[in-house]
Amino acid sequence: MKYVSTRDTAAHPNEVSAAQAIKEGLAHDKGLYMPVEIPTLTKEGILSLAQQPYFERAAAVLSMFLTDYDAKKLLSDCKKAYSETRFPGGAAPLVPIGENLYALELWHGPTCAFKDMALQIMPRLLSSALSMTGEKRRAHILVATSGDTGKAALEGYKDVPGVDITVFFPVDGVSPMQKLQMVTQTGSNVNVCAVRGNFDDTQSGVKRIFADASLAQRAEDRGFFFSSANSINWGRLAPQIVYYISAYCDLMNRGEITYGDKINICVPTGNFGNIFAAYIAREMGLPIAKMICASNANCVLTDFIRTGVYDRTREFYKTMSPSMDILISSNLERLLYLLGGPEITRDCMEKLVCDGKYTAPASVMEKIHNVLEGYYCTEAETAQVIRDTFYSGGYLADPHTSVGIGCAKQYIAASGDHTKTVLASTASPYKFAKDVCTSLGTTPPGESPREILETLSSISKTPIPAPLAATLSLPVRFQTVIDAKDMANFIFDR
Ligand SMILES: *Cc1c(COP(=O)(O)O)cnc(C)c1O
Repeated sequence: MKYVSTRDTAAHPNEVSAAQAIKEGLAHDKGLYMPVEIPTLTKEGILSLAQQPYFERAAAVLSMFLTDYDAKKLLSDCKKAYSETRFPGGAAPLVPIGENLYALELWHGPTCAFKDMALQIMPRLLSSALSMTGEKRRAHILVATSGDTGKAALEGYKDVPGVDITVFFPVDGVSPMQKLQMVTQTGSNVNVCAVRGNFDDTQSGVKRIFADASLAQRAEDRGFFFSSANSINWGRLAPQIVYYISAYCDLMNRGEITYGDKINICVPTGNFGNIFAAYIAREMGLPIAKMICASNANCVLTDFIRTGVYDRTREFYKTMSPSMDILISSNLERLLYLLGGPEITRDCMEKLVCDGKYTAPASVMEKIHNVLEGYYCTEAETAQVIRDTFYSGGYLADPHTSVGIGCAKQYIAASGDHTKTVLASTASPYKFAKDVCTSLGTTPPGESPREILETLSSISKTPIPAPLAATLSLPVRFQTVIDAKDMANFIFDR
């Protein structure tokens, strides 16, 4: 399987191996790597996956895309990544939470957020890619985080051979729990630093480092190169295809559906990575009818799906589902490429940079309307869903997942479509405990992570997840706070 850039308009596009695509992350023309074709899942294939545990399903699906990787190594890496120690109780359990509605809980990993599903395996894929491509330099992963990605990347990359990682977070832009999770990180190849300013300042700082040729040369001289862990990298997207296929298998195994029955999927969306993985599963032949793209008050995707106009020039809202507070959903580029080809993609992406908006051609929107439905929840609606889901449905959902539940319900009310729906449940409610408590009508007695977690535990009568409980008593390792202009020095002066 070869990979090409979404913006490569040449008659014979430049093709790279999966290992190269994963090592490079972004293509040289700033496009995203995509497989040249989507492999097919046959009926026999799905029936056979249904007999396997999660890690075997993951290795089987990844081998279809990463054909240059050694299948045995993939299997042993998946076995380690999705082990019972890392995902107690299973990697992606499916929990019924209402009539024809199932939560696919993707947050039972070491950081209690769905990003663990990809970031537990991606570092191993990168490590293999370095040796497969004969790379002598070390990879230095740079992350700017508004909370969840940084911790999940630290946990995934810690102590991985050939790789170092530095995570920058905005000093006042993450929750107390998220901060504690990062500053107590263990591992010999990790570094964490707070940056004065907001998330944009931190993110721009990281982008400047990536774009600076003289810094790249300085790194080269020291025997390393910069690499990224975010969902523009195919190595992060591919592992996310697995859990939709896995959910379908689990529904078959429980007799809820038989092979061939269509299901709907609903995904709380930010960067469009998670929902795009579901789209790929559908293209592979998984019987998915509709996909509901759920947004919060930053409803740029809802508007796009409804009108065909993608317009990022709008007010930005800070919400209680911060991982979805995004105005540029990078992976939408991959969908444009699949539906419209590289010329249209390049054109739209250039307009997005110059004008802050673009209009997708009618031919592309027609294909989008066959599959995607766009809905959003305001903050008040999200709080209401958290309350109703807990007090009427008995299920404690985090704000991101609650946006998904609210949107799935809006879709059902509008369409009358009662197809069984799998909802991606993307974070433990304990990661956003303060907002969950407030939405349930209780204000925690203090601001410390311990007080907040204990309050949620006592209202909901559910246990604090073990990884978060453990974090409360770990020593703080990282206390540096710098200005954004000093970020490069922080890396090189280590
Ligand atoms: C990252 C994240 C999302 C959004 O996923 P995308 O792949 O960026 O669309 C949703 N919920 C949570 C909790 C997340 O951490």
